[in-house]
Amino acid sequence: MTRPPISCSIDLESPGKRVGFLRLAWSDVENAYGVIPVPIAVVRGGEGPTGLVTAGVHGDEYEGLLIARRLIAEIAPAEVAGRLIVMPGVNWPAVLARARTSPIDQQNMNRAFPGDAQDGPTAMIADFIERVLLPGVDVAIDLHSGGTKSIYSPCGYVYGMGAPAFRANKLAAAHAFGAPATVVVTATSSSGSLSSACERHGVPMVATELGGGARLDAGAFRIGRDGTRNLLRHAGVLRGAPVPTRTALLHTRSAESFVMAPIDGLFEPARGLGEDVAAGALAGMIWPMDDLERPPVEVPFAAAGRVLCVRTTPLVRRGDFLCHTGSPIGDVEFLDGLG
Ligand SMILES: [Zn+2]
Repeated sequence: MTRPPISCSIDLESPGKRVGFLRLAWSDVENAYGVIPVPIAVVRGGEGPTGLVTAGVHGDEYEGLLIARRLIAEIAPAEVAGRLIVMPGVNWPAVLARARTSPIDQQNMNRAFPGDAQDGPTAMIADFIERVLLPGVDVAIDLHSGGTKSIYSPCGYVYGMGAPAFRANKLAAAHAFGAPATVVVTATSSSGSLSSACERHGVPMVATELGGGARLDAGAFRIGRDGTRNLLRHAGVLRGAPVPTRTALLHTRSAESFVMAPIDGLFEPARGLGEDVAAGALAGMIWPMDDLERPPVEVPFAAAGRVLCVRTTPLVRRGDFLCHTGSPIGDVEFLDGLG
């Protein structure tokens, strides 16, 4: 049987400010005729460009949830030159469960695009964003954090691919967001991400990683809040001139930038977030907890760079992610094309 498509409880086109939800019809063991209400808001001031702000693609990343929620409360139609669409809890079942992925279908929203209207709730929401929203969007901001399992030094993320003019748009957007650092992504392994969906639609997008560790970091929140508003002004969605800002580009060149645990044990980090490290420098030591006579194993950084992300749970298993680094690149290198 064909499921009814997602419908939206509010008009997304006409002038004014409205809050509502996507009506995602879902029947399961708990609810025979239930609806999953995915929150959405729109503020239309004039006929200018449309900006899409999303948070809660992963349900346990809280800085973005607050940035999006406050944006809905604080932006009035008179401040908007075009249209602002905000989805403050994209994977709503995951947000309710305080989890990265949906407890209903176990799907990772950032691997679910382009989505499928006849699949589970995560794929249905992805389908609505890709098929209904993105064709009408001119700029997008997707707010992430490290979640329960990792913490990031606050940074933006942009894709380094695409035609030269599109790359230039993305670089200008990254500078307008103005995070202390912006990671340039050149791997194409995650075509299911919202960033990849924006690439397909030619929408310049800045994603973020703002803090994490299942907390809400006040400093990372402020960077994300100010950057979101400045990028929306830069793109002409909000009225007013943007503040001139710049970001430092960092590139994670290869798998060597990701440090993995070589044995099971307790990880003692030697370096912290935001520190610059040399190739071969000590990342930390792992102390075996199941053999008290065995010495600790030293873990080096394979590549030089800045520490962007560290894990939060120090008791690790062989193969677990410990931290990762990015190395500085210039604007010209980005514009020339990295991959
Ligand atoms: Zn995330």
